[in-house]
Amino acid sequence: MVDARSSLRLIGYWWSHDAPEWPRPQDWSDPYWSLEERDLVALYLESGQHMPYATAGLSLCRLCDKPNGSLEFTDGVFLWPQGLAHYVREHSVRLPDEIIKRAQQWAEPMNWEVDLTWWREQKARG
Ligand SMILES: [Zn+2]
Repeated sequence: MVDARSSLRLIGYWWSHDAPEWPRPQDWSDPYWSLEERDLVALYLESGQHMPYATAGLSLCRLCDKPNGSLEFTDGVFLWPQGLAHYVREHSVRLPDEIIKRAQQWAEPMNWEVDLTWWREQKARG
């Protein structure tokens, strides 16, 4: 048996009466957060890989009650609900620097070294 379990760090869940252990998004809202950085982080969150399952149900935004998705996304390190980008984009909910930094690294072409050889060397089966 192959043990291929990967560990992901859950982010982006928010307080509710049923889940009082999560932070409150309004506490994290920063109206002075630069629009450019905010857009980048929202785009990063929207560009994650969606997990092959749906969560228990549709989530409502804790701040405006809009339906806010039922999927979860990952970047291989973090795991977040589909609606997290909405909090960032629409309510300026500023995420921890570690996440902002990942978005910035992702957006910078200089940070990616692209291997052109592996794919060329692949052979068709049979
Ligand atoms: Zn909202």
